[in-house]
Amino acid sequence: MCGIVGYIGQPRRAEEIVDILSLLEYRGYDSAGISGINDDGCKIIKEVGSISNLRKKIPQQWSVTNAIAHTRWATHGASTLQNAHPHQSLDKKWIIVHNGIIENYKELCSRISACANISPNSRGGGTDTQILIEYIANKNIDTFEDFVKLFQDIKGSYAIICQNTQKPNELYIAKKNSPLYIASDKDNNIFLASDPVCFSKYTNVYKTFNDNEFAHIHDQKIFIVDSELRPIIKESSKLKDDFVEQTKLDYAHFMLKEIYEQPDALRRQVDFYKEQKILSKFNSDFLSRFNQIKLVGCGTAYHACMIGVKYIENILSIPASAEIASEFVYNTNVFEPKRTLYIFVSQSGETADTIKALNIQKEKGATCIALTNVAYSTLSQQADYCLPICAGPEVSVASTKAYTCQLSALYLFANALKTNEDLEKAYNNIVELSTKLFDFNIETADKIAEYISSKRDAVFIGKNFDFVTAREGALKIKEITYVNANACPSGELKHGYLAIVEEGTPLVVVATDEELNSKVFNSSSEAVARGAVEIVISTDDHECKYLIKLKKINPLLMPMLSIVPIQYIAYKASILKGINPDKPRNLAKSVTVE
Ligand code: GLU
Repeated sequence: MCGIVGYIGQPRRAEEIVDILSLLEYRGYDSAGISGINDDGCKIIKEVGSISNLRKKIPQQWSVTNAIAHTRWATHGASTLQNAHPHQSLDKKWIIVHNGIIENYKELCSRISACANISPNSRGGGTDTQILIEYIANKNIDTFEDFVKLFQDIKGSYAIICQNTQKPNELYIAKKNSPLYIASDKDNNIFLASDPVCFSKYTNVYKTFNDNEFAHIHDQKIFIVDSELRPIIKESSKLKDDFVEQTKLDYAHFMLKEIYEQPDALRRQVDFYKEQKILSKFNSDFLSRFNQIKLVGCGTAYHACMIGVKYIENILSIPASAEIASEFVYNTNVFEPKRTLYIFVSQSGETADTIKALNIQKEKGATCIALTNVAYSTLSQQADYCLPICAGPEVSVASTKAYTCQLSALYLFANALKTNEDLEKAYNNIVELSTKLFDFNIETADKIAEYISSKRDAVFIGKNFDFVTAREGALKIKEITYVNANACPSGELKHGYLAIVEEGTPLVVVATDEELNSKVFNSSSEAVARGAVEIVISTDDHECKYLIKLKKINPLLMPMLSIVPIQYIAYKASILKGINPDKPRNLAKSVTVE
């Protein structure tokens, strides 16, 4: 996934480039590095782990006129110092930072002998990016035109910035399927980054690179071309004012802050939708163009899709289905694509699998809506319509407020497609719901966190809406406590999951639907009989070791309420295990590789 930064301009402290890079840490934190050029030559500094480790190694007086920097989420090759970017070619001429995956690295490798020792095949091996930079070096490129032509040989996804140590006033850029933006300030200093949030301190306008575009920066001029070397003139976009500084305020972690921000975020979204008339185009006439709705996402966003299906089917009585983006790309047989409405859900709007799924359906002529938290994201730009969520920046890897805002957006959307009156009622329902999110017993939640944090496995069950909450809850626990939490519909327990249960296994039972609760409790008692310890999140009283009692509310709104205690429990259990919940191992916030 990774984040990349480029700079070329007046002398600037390298520490400042590292500050810019730190705004991209949500994209990965396996290692970080910077290559800086000044009159004394070129220096590369790298460190394993988070950017704060790199910062400690940066000399205060080091000032640079040309820099590239990288924060890594390893796709090929272990998270070692050797594999940290920037990578320099063996002949010392080229230095690269890369976001993405070079899919044909083996083929490139077989064409050049220098690669023999760096193939990423084994755990001790190098990275796909190292193969690419050797390939570039091996081609003896002299001109930008040669650089562009070379990419005919490259398969995969990449946002790339290269330095050429023999041309200290130049940068070479290539982009395909990974985001990249460029901006210049009033003094004509030029900045490149994976997210325009990085430019907010310097300028309020930026340009977006599209796929298969290349750029050459030399003598402070930006020259952009397509793969046929035809020059491209780009429009500028304006940075949104909501690039608020990402601070934890008085909270110990972003995740805790984000959990507690949920009531405000839900209200802000209602206000924004009303003021900007976001849903005015989505009415019954719009709906009449379609005979089915498909929702597509990954991870937590996929769980939002599962709830969205239930909203659409309950409120609108038309067929809907939820699809996992990375699997859906292989589904070539969608019935009547032009009569199908697609909703692609992604917090960042940069999820590679979701973007790929969108592009496939767009080619078939389907109508696509992007439901994202980032208005300028690739997904938003490529969809026909954008349904924004107003969660505000979500920094913690485990999604919390973005999830509840996604559910609220889908609930409002389904009501808008019905009638105006339904939409008005739905707005009021969300505002009322926002006042109830923390009406649960925190001391009990703390005790549950202690219990779960001491266990290796946990099983989550529920039915209907509650099954989706169980899935999302299990994912939260897995992501930030590393407890092996698995969710299943309660009816499925005896078809396999029950075998996991042993003396003391936590069984988290989500039971908030009075029509279904007795059936869910039947299943949980079968697990208790085999040693499970019940942790119940319910609107009903239930005799068990731990009960989180919730108020009865409209069942359609319940998934936004019942997930909150589980988010809190996951956070607390993570802290008890000494894990940083904002940056769990092996994960990153924005998943920009397939
Ligand atoms: N594939 C490259 C690596 O593993 C870049 C990964 C990234 O985008 O973070 O080093």
